[in-house]
Amino acid sequence: MVSDYECPLCKAEYLSRRYHDCSLFWIADCVTCKVPMVVLEEHKADAPQWIVDEMLQVCKGTFDMDKYDIDFTNKTIHDHYHFHLRPKKEEETTADEEQPEE
Ligand SMILES: [Zn+2]
Ligand SMILES: [Zn+2]
Repeated sequence: MVSDYECPLCKAEYLSRRYHDCSLFWIADCVTCKVPMVVLEEHKADAPQWIVDEMLQVCKGTFDMDKYDIDFTNKTIHDHYHFHLRPKKEEETTADEEQPEE
């Protein structure tokens, strides 16, 4: 029997600004993690591949994906498909990219 459980991703009240909103999914800042989060509009544990492709496409158009890693691990909510975009750690200097100046 379904109780009063309310899925926080369906309510989405704790979220701040939205980057993207359409009939399939939305993107907003996750206030818990302080990073952008992509959430399937429907309350389902899995998203069809074509929607995931669409999500990734919108991510590319909205964010500089060179600066983000996609984190598909769902630690708290397992029954509503979502993933986070985690900013990559800055690695300014790599040994391979030493450019000799003349
Ligand atoms: Zn989060
Ligand atoms: Zn939900």
